[in-house]
Amino acid sequence: MASLLAQPAGAANVKVTPLGSHDGEFCPQDRALVFEDPNGTRILYDAGRTVAGAEDPRLGKIDIILVSHMHGDHVGNSHAKAPNAGTCDKPDVSVSDMPNSNSVNIALAKKAKIVTGSEMPAFFAAKLKANGGDPKDSILVRFGGSRKVGDVTIATVPALHSNGVDLDYIGGEVGTAMKAAGVAGDVGLATGYVLTFSNGLVVYLSGDTGITGEQDKVVRGHYGAKLAVMNIGDGFTTGPAEAAYVINDLVQPNAVIASHANEVGTKGGKVVPGTKTEAFMKAVKVPVHVPLSGKAMEFDSNGKCVAGC
Ligand SMILES: [Zn+2]
Repeated sequence: MASLLAQPAGAANVKVTPLGSHDGEFCPQDRALVFEDPNGTRILYDAGRTVAGAEDPRLGKIDIILVSHMHGDHVGNSHAKAPNAGTCDKPDVSVSDMPNSNSVNIALAKKAKIVTGSEMPAFFAAKLKANGGDPKDSILVRFGGSRKVGDVTIATVPALHSNGVDLDYIGGEVGTAMKAAGVAGDVGLATGYVLTFSNGLVVYLSGDTGITGEQDKVVRGHYGAKLAVMNIGDGFTTGPAEAAYVINDLVQPNAVIASHANEVGTKGGKVVPGTKTEAFMKAVKVPVHVPLSGKAMEFDSNGKCVAGC
């Protein structure tokens, strides 16, 4: 009770709202999270395919869009017809976003900044320009630097993954020839992010990655992340066991949100036994929060969930 009185509800907390394919569940395509700073800046992280385009009523105001890398399930090569279209197992994400991407189309509609690292900013600047947007709305934050956008300081960190650009984004003779040769476009390394909110909360967003030394030396050692969003899907990224090692031994946050499980993680909002999500929860020593679509969670400056978990 004393702690409740000391901290009025909603004060100085960061709100995290998953925008997955199906309300109240954690489904295979789910990537997108909206972070809201206590001062109002709203960030969309990895829109992917489950955000039903720029008109998705769940989006609201979006100031910043983060794209960890260029794969279709993150930048969004297509998107859902509507929230809850199809089933959790097979969401209907059949609305094509080529050659723009879901992220670019949302940025154009919301007049949001796209903040990326590596060589991705030039790609997004060109797409914005080609569609009547302002190329200056594509903002670069390369490894080691940071930039304050709105109320949030954004840094990028390496992710051990691949980052080829689908040639359908490029098109023309060059795109067609490269596609025939099986060579993807190059926009540098995949990334993760470290976000510092105005209440002091530091959040690590892993992106798609394997285990990296930076998770210890940089994410924990330098930035001191207190909350992590960790991809656990295996095959393409760390699986539950590797992701648990990253959390327990390397990043050592106070809490973690599981992400990118590539499975039906929940039924009726409850974790399905035998899933990767369950294995990750059992292996991790700090609280694991499952991102149930549409259910907002609030975190204090230490990464403790104080509402909605
Ligand atoms: Zn992915």
